[in-house]
Amino acid sequence: WCQQPGLNRYRLYDTELDALEVERRLIEMDLTKAIERAEFQVHYQPQVDLQTGRVVGMESLVRWHHPVRGVVSPAKFIPIAEELGLIVPLGEWILTTACQHAKRWQILCMQPLRVSVNLSMRQFQQPNLPQRVEAILAETGLDPKLLTLELTESCVMHDVEATILTLKALKKLGIEISIDDFGTGYSSLNHLYQLPIDALKIDRSFVKQIRVSAGAIAISDAIISMAKGLKLHIVAEGIEDKEQLAFFRKRGCDAIQGFLYSPPISAIEMEALLLSDRRLHFASA
Ligand code: C2E
Ligand code: MG
Ligand code: MG
Ligand code: MG
Repeated sequence: WCQQPGLNRYRLYDTELDALEVERRLIEMDLTKAIERAEFQVHYQPQVDLQTGRVVGMESLVRWHHPVRGVVSPAKFIPIAEELGLIVPLGEWILTTACQHAKRWQILCMQPLRVSVNLSMRQFQQPNLPQRVEAILAETGLDPKLLTLELTESCVMHDVEATILTLKALKKLGIEISIDDFGTGYSSLNHLYQLPIDALKIDRSFVKQIRVSAGAIAISDAIISMAKGLKLHIVAEGIEDKEQLAFFRKRGCDAIQGFLYSPPISAIEMEALLLSDRRLHFASA
């Protein structure tokens, strides 16, 4: 037995891998065509200010409407698009679309609304990224200070020297940088304070745990006080209930995003929501 450890498990693993591999290939083939067929849509999730309860911005989240599979989750296809390099043209289209919508909403609402766009590692590593962002801002007419690019910890920590140069070039355009899913990647705190960033997003995994885990509370507290010390804007993501809302509000988070206020919605729905000026209400306790 000892000489053949986990033989069965290997076999099971192989079959699972095959099934995954088949699905991957299918998605790969369709993904290539999906761009030409315009099967993508950008949805938006409102970000709500915790002082006023008003929408102050939105995160763009791509959706793929597959003709047969229905909506395919970005968690599933973004990694594949990234491997194939398709994320670069797709990402440019997402950024352009998000900037166009945001520009329209600034005019419509006559108030500054911040739009946050997720960037994958492959996009971040494109040597001409700052020029492309600059061109898209010029083309859409969006005020650069209303654009935030969201980057994950693993993306910015990958090659810190190169990251700092790219971030500086991006910051020169006047845009903001946010670290997404903070606390889930490996972050070198030693490097964090050297990065020219503006905001941190506390990952949903901590938010989910605050009711049951003293550890999650401790980590959330630590992230918040560290972010405050670094003068970063703090957004908590995945707020689903009043208890979580109260928790992050009490601790001085600046804004939240989550199903409690709204899931990601289409641009049309977002526009209606903005015009309705619906507030988030805080329990007075
Ligand atoms: P993310 O950037 O951390 O986005 C937040 C995810 O949490 C979104 O999932 C959103 O729908 C979900 N979410 C928000 N509030 C709640 C909540 O209260 N409860 C729960 N259960 N979930 C909530 P989504 O849209 O499926 O996106 C998943 C991930 O895919 C994103 O995580 C991001 O990493 C990636 N992604 C999405 N759109 C893009 C894109 O345009 N470009 C790139 N590069 N990646 C994207
Ligand atoms: Mg994000
Ligand atoms: Mg996130
Ligand atoms: Mg996340």
